[in-house]
Amino acid sequence: MSDNKDSHPKLHIHTHDPDLKFDPPKRVAEVAHVQTFAQYEKMYEQSVKEPEIFWGEIAEQFFWASQPTGAFVQYNFDVRKGPISIKWMEGAKTNICYNVLDKNIEKGLGDKIAFFWEGNYPGDDKKITYKELFEEVCKFSNVLKQLGVKKGDRVAMYMPMIVELVVAMLACARIGAVHSIVFAGFSAESLRDRILDASCDAIVTADGVWRGPKLLNLKAIVDKALDFCAEKGKPVKSCVVVKHLTADGDATSKEEKGKRPCNSLQITMKDSRDRWWRELMTAASDHCDPEWVDAEDPLFMLYTSGSTGKPKGVLHTVGGYMIYAATTSKYSFDLHADDVYWCTADIGWITGHTYVCYGPLANGVTSVIFEGTPMFPDAGRLWDVVDKYKVTKFYTAPTAIRSLMKFGDNFVTKYDRSSLKVLGTVGEPINPEAWHWYNTVVGNGNCAVVDTFWQTETGGHVITPLPGATKTKAGSATFPFFGIVPAILSEDGVEVKGPGQGYLVFKQAWPGLMRTVYGDHERFETTYFKKFPGYYCTGDGAKRDEEGYLWITGRIDDLVNVSGHLLSTAEVESALIEHDSVAEAASVSHPHSIKGECIYCFVTLNEGEAFTEELSKELKQVVREKIGPFAQPDFIQNAPALPKTRSGKIMRRILRKIAVNDRDVGDTSTLADESVIDTLFSLRCPSA
Ligand code: ATP
Ligand code: MG
Repeated sequence: MSDNKDSHPKLHIHTHDPDLKFDPPKRVAEVAHVQTFAQYEKMYEQSVKEPEIFWGEIAEQFFWASQPTGAFVQYNFDVRKGPISIKWMEGAKTNICYNVLDKNIEKGLGDKIAFFWEGNYPGDDKKITYKELFEEVCKFSNVLKQLGVKKGDRVAMYMPMIVELVVAMLACARIGAVHSIVFAGFSAESLRDRILDASCDAIVTADGVWRGPKLLNLKAIVDKALDFCAEKGKPVKSCVVVKHLTADGDATSKEEKGKRPCNSLQITMKDSRDRWWRELMTAASDHCDPEWVDAEDPLFMLYTSGSTGKPKGVLHTVGGYMIYAATTSKYSFDLHADDVYWCTADIGWITGHTYVCYGPLANGVTSVIFEGTPMFPDAGRLWDVVDKYKVTKFYTAPTAIRSLMKFGDNFVTKYDRSSLKVLGTVGEPINPEAWHWYNTVVGNGNCAVVDTFWQTETGGHVITPLPGATKTKAGSATFPFFGIVPAILSEDGVEVKGPGQGYLVFKQAWPGLMRTVYGDHERFETTYFKKFPGYYCTGDGAKRDEEGYLWITGRIDDLVNVSGHLLSTAEVESALIEHDSVAEAASVSHPHSIKGECIYCFVTLNEGEAFTEELSKELKQVVREKIGPFAQPDFIQNAPALPKTRSGKIMRRILRKIAVNDRDVGDTSTLADESVIDTLFSLRCPSA
């Protein structure tokens, strides 16, 4: 290694010791629900050995109108023994809306702020208490009933990050209807497909929304999607429209004036189908008894991000999801009554379902709902909002962290941020470089960083540190959450004991696990249970180190086999990102006549850096030195931007196609920006 280095004297790489451990900050540990690792281990042991007792005690903190009629938990993970099925507390009757609202108000939290709403434009904000939220939810429950929505019916939502979205979700839950939220950045075609797949009878939307400096006409997109549905003979009966934009004339208050201008947006209302939210709400009663539903009745369905293929319509049920969302929120973020908690995820993704809506409300905390983007009006916005509300627990994605790093530390350090105690991350493996920046620059080295691994399918965190108990390592999701029994399997399905690498699977059911793919149980069984009978297969790879820490290595589909060495994309990418010029990187497999496969990399450079042949050589050298000569990429391509899902994840399956110059890139419905593809094809390494 050293002789190579001599020929490249200018390497600007940072070196991180993967075994360096970070203690939970004292001020966090001292007040935490779980204060030592030994305490975590004790609770963990009970959670996996006696799940009925562990989860039974937690369930007792919720209201049940009746008790389970059969076993507390019953499941089959083995396709050879019969259909896959997962049931928790079947026969017990409850209501999640009742538990997160009525019950909190009974406990005296009625006047507590449930949500601070922070709009796209700084200064456009409002707040809502638990009692006010409850009243709105009851009213909208009555609106839904009046529109003919009944228990079990599916209601689509295509909405901005506004309080009305939470109101609509909870109203569905209150009457036993099933919500199906579609991120309001999807095209009319994607929305149509999701509405048809779920046979939705009603949809809730808004006129439009400002996202950063851009105005989107949501209603026009909904109109187009609903026209398609009608043409297919499956018309959606009702469409409720929130008037979110404020022409001067309709502003409800002086402060609101001009904050969300509607410019000349054309909104057309179809007489028999479309109704304004405010009109329906004014006429509705604020009393609505909850519908007592079965623990195993559906609560919502939600499509995965589509990073690896056509999105799957994941179905979650009421009882298990409720206790899992509440428990993971409580322990992973160490939530307490005085917290101000902020998860930046859009409610259109699972992170927003569990950690903007249900989890925080179940814990009775105050949260922030943010409509805007991290870059608007500038790269300091998140920290401005942290200071404004004195946020204590903050949760975001590596993609946001990496993009903010590009703009330098000043945008962060000019804000106070001393309220912060826990910093969470989710969505992709976090590269050590980004982890350290989050920890030291954002957190001043004084916060617990929790890298939470989970999936739409898992309902809540499955591998995560606990802020007061777990010593962290940069880039490791550390240890399993309560009730989760992970294993690492080799290609032939043998469990890797001790240190090693392979397929990440789970051996036991936990309450928050999905129950089926909506309308396609066979796809559910094939996707998650057929490859390794007896296990739930995540599709992700993981590595266990000498000390038992788990490291997510990325998608199994993304592994590269170079001359018999199995390499994870995450490893190569993390090495590239440690170079001073590189902001983001993605690596994929490319066929090679001798090695079988070789590595093809895409790199996005920091502001002001230029892509040169020299830099390309230097980057190859970086990977060679950090991982080993066999890992040296054959190709490095300039990527002004990477193809990402609308939730911000890198879509390596598209990059694999670009690397081999195959224009048939597959399903692009969840791609955030189509133009990236042409740009990347035009910048391909010609020799590849
Ligand atoms: P699709 O299943 O349609 O391909 P998706 O898997 O991206 O889409 P999600 O359910 O939103 O949809 O994302 C879950 C995936 O995100 C995980 O399987 C994993 O690959 C990645 N992920 C989430 N959190 C982490 C984390 N903390 N570390 C590493 N990877 C993570
Ligand atoms: Mg997935």
